[in-house]
Amino acid sequence: MSLPVVNATDDAPYEDPLDLMDEIEELKKEKDASILAHFYVDGEIQDIADYTGDSLKLARDATQVETSTIVFSGVHFMGESAKIMNPEKRVLIPDMLAGCSLAESCPADQLAAFQEQLRSEGREFDTVAYINTSAAVKSLCDWIVTSGNAQEIIERVPADRDILFVPDQHLGRYLMEVTGRKMMLWPGSCMVHEVFSIQGLIRAKRNHANSQVIAHPECPQNILEITDFIGGTEKMRQYVMSIAEPTTFLVATEAAMIHAFEKSAPQHTFVPVPGIITATGETCACNRCPHMARNTLQKVRDCLRDESPEIEWQDYFEKARAVLDKSLLK
Ligand code: SF4
Repeated sequence: MSLPVVNATDDAPYEDPLDLMDEIEELKKEKDASILAHFYVDGEIQDIADYTGDSLKLARDATQVETSTIVFSGVHFMGESAKIMNPEKRVLIPDMLAGCSLAESCPADQLAAFQEQLRSEGREFDTVAYINTSAAVKSLCDWIVTSGNAQEIIERVPADRDILFVPDQHLGRYLMEVTGRKMMLWPGSCMVHEVFSIQGLIRAKRNHANSQVIAHPECPQNILEITDFIGGTEKMRQYVMSIAEPTTFLVATEAAMIHAFEKSAPQHTFVPVPGIITATGETCACNRCPHMARNTLQKVRDCLRDESPEIEWQDYFEKARAVLDKSLLK
């Protein structure tokens, strides 16, 4: 499937993707490097990666990598997590500016101030953070969850403690529903999952009789209410693979995920749910993450060749590591 170019941040001259792939393969050997690619980066990068997956799988894969260098094709907080789990390895990311609107909606200083306020009110609570947070935020938390393991971790928090869930209010609301635990929700959200059009989804359902809707729990409640299967990217992939009968799936998550679905379950048809309609009547390309789209084959090649940009170890990584370890590995 070819994806629209949504992020014209680069003026790099055109280079043949096949030549770039060959060059990357050579550089991987020369630099003793492995490539980890999130399901939301372009299919071409997923195809040359040694590991692909969602945040949870990649965080675990990062601990299995045998090469001395990791190239993390995703966004900044993912590169940080890979470094935290592998302090002795060099971790490169193709573009330092590949951030995350959700991570940015919860700055560490604001979280620390809010936690302090709660403590001064005598509240006893655990802070549970979605993995889409900076390492500085992780270091302030008790637990880190992904959409794949959130339910299991929340059930581990003692029933007599309150829960502050950061930063995704939609995922938090969904988790309150499935676990029955009340939580204080930080008012953050993802710019991609926030904008799926309920009207567009209803129309797509009408146009595709007998289709099923699969959605990421970062989507707002009105989308989740008419969804047949809710799960993180890996759970969605497992779900479509479990159905043998050719089916049309309406997909409410980042559009690059369709590449992974088509590779894993080619018997099905996958239709991206459109984003909201703009004032001019056009559908915006908001179902592509502009941060993930900063990853290109050229930048993967360049960061391998130049051994830069690199995620440098920070003091607070140690505390974040202890939280990640107990949450994701044990
Ligand atoms: S899709 Fe949303 S949550 Fe994921 S990296 Fe992009 S902005 Fe962050």
